[in-house]
Amino acid sequence: MRKVTKQCDLCAVSFQYGPQKYDGQYLPHYEMYLCEGCYRDNAGGFAPGLEDKIIGVLETHRIPLPERNARGWFPR
Ligand SMILES: [Zn+2]
Repeated sequence: MRKVTKQCDLCAVSFQYGPQKYDGQYLPHYEMYLCEGCYRDNAGGFAPGLEDKIIGVLETHRIPLPERNARGWFPR
């Protein structure tokens, strides 16, 4: 079976996304792929330093900005 490779929308690393082995996550509400590391590191929301990137992805996909969490960050 052919490997599917995706690129992390935050750190730009490439990772395998199936079949059978998934080294990252897809966030449908952002239409964004994250590698395992970025997914784990942002469990509590996306830190302010990442906001420009997140907003860029959302604008590309024409998705409205999400509600911020209690920390004032965009939730993962
Ligand atoms: Zn990443």
